[in-house]
Amino acid sequence: MKRFVSMLLFMSVFFTLFATVGHAAEVIPKLYLNGKLLQSEVNPQIIDNATVVPVRTVSEGLGYQITWDNAAKTATVNHGNDVIKLKLNDNIALVNDQMVQMDTTASIIKGTTLVPLRFIGEQFGLGFEWKATEKEVHMYEQPTVPAETTGWITQISYDGGSSLTINYDGVVKANKPLLLENPKRVVFDFPATAYSSDLNAQFLNGQVQFEVTDSTYLDGFRYSLFSNSPATARLVILIGDNTGYVMTEDLGKIHLSFMSLTDVPVDPNASIDPPVVIEPENPPAASDVFDVVIDPGHGGSDPGAKSVLNMWEKEFNLAVSLKMKTLLEKESKIKVHLTRTGDTYPSLAERVKFAESLKADLFLSIHSNSAASASIMGAETYYYRDNSKSLAAIIHKHLIAGTGTKDRGVKKEAYKVIKETTMPAVLVEAGFLSSASDAKMLFDDASQNRIASELVAGIKEYLNVK
Ligand SMILES: [Zn+2]
Repeated sequence: MKRFVSMLLFMSVFFTLFATVGHAAEVIPKLYLNGKLLQSEVNPQIIDNATVVPVRTVSEGLGYQITWDNAAKTATVNHGNDVIKLKLNDNIALVNDQMVQMDTTASIIKGTTLVPLRFIGEQFGLGFEWKATEKEVHMYEQPTVPAETTGWITQISYDGGSSLTINYDGVVKANKPLLLENPKRVVFDFPATAYSSDLNAQFLNGQVQFEVTDSTYLDGFRYSLFSNSPATARLVILIGDNTGYVMTEDLGKIHLSFMSLTDVPVDPNASIDPPVVIEPENPPAASDVFDVVIDPGHGGSDPGAKSVLNMWEKEFNLAVSLKMKTLLEKESKIKVHLTRTGDTYPSLAERVKFAESLKADLFLSIHSNSAASASIMGAETYYYRDNSKSLAAIIHKHLIAGTGTKDRGVKKEAYKVIKETTMPAVLVEAGFLSSASDAKMLFDDASQNRIASELVAGIKEYLNVK
């Protein structure tokens, strides 16, 4: 992208950057909520190492109710059922009547009451991000579980032997499972189902993973929230060859017993209802061909960023995409489509439409980055939607292997092409054109070949294509 997207620095870092209190008042941060600029009649300020904002910014910008009691010198902030009370110049706040210490206090400057932004926002579940280059405070409403969720998984446990038990509250029903190969695994999706907050707290990088070493039929399992709206819980169970299972249901419990296919009962009068056998065959050939869209960023009248080698981002993006196209055309299970194959500029909307009309299975946008400072280097992978997280993780691993540059991590950002498409979609920034060493790597033919082949390996890994 043309714009340098800073590392995600939380406000604690922000505080240390402006630790010289009082002199920093001229730094006026811009406030954004869900990407929209918040207007404020009185500028936000950095005081006592924190961003403080007028109460009106909180009430009108964030939509919280706020009242100021002049006699008690107390601001009361309401959001939903939650209440925060902040007393003037007192660093102890009352959050739902519990005392919580703050880094800063409410204050009055030139007759305006200023309250600490981050403290209030975080109590009400806002995520914070500081963009250092742009001097912007970005606040995000965290995704909430949609109202139509009907069930909550409270526990998924391995019972020893070859069985799993899923405990739940409400209504939880599995969709017809999918059997996938390499490794052999069975995938259950539970529509309108989320995880209990206790179970959610155990998630690491969005999932829980469990390895089983003492079973013939079960190698392990993992579960995650596959989609947030509507909520869909996904359970993936790694199984051995010729393995079938029996599902039994009890009040608040689903029990899965894995066994040899030949042992799966077929007696229609058996108490288990109904016995489900995993078909060991591959899915039909038609669904075996995946449509993959590669999107070389920029092009034509939009050159993207200029490199220190005087070559343009659009040139790198296209070169790697064309190399990927050549490699992907050799794959019998993949059909590759490029949003551009020459120096042209399809609009972002056209790129989205292209992938959507193909009903593509995967979308990968290729970019390279630029920063004001020549010392910033490294590669990043962006996703936006929940269904793109695992693709981002796999692609990023290969991007780092291919570029050999600094690992700047997987990040979430609402770039149009990965936001408005619906299939798993990620955008890679393969390195910084503004860094001498990254630029040399990005425009080196051998490096480009390596990046292309790693990204293709990532696509194949994600799609389970051998
Ligand atoms: Zn770009």
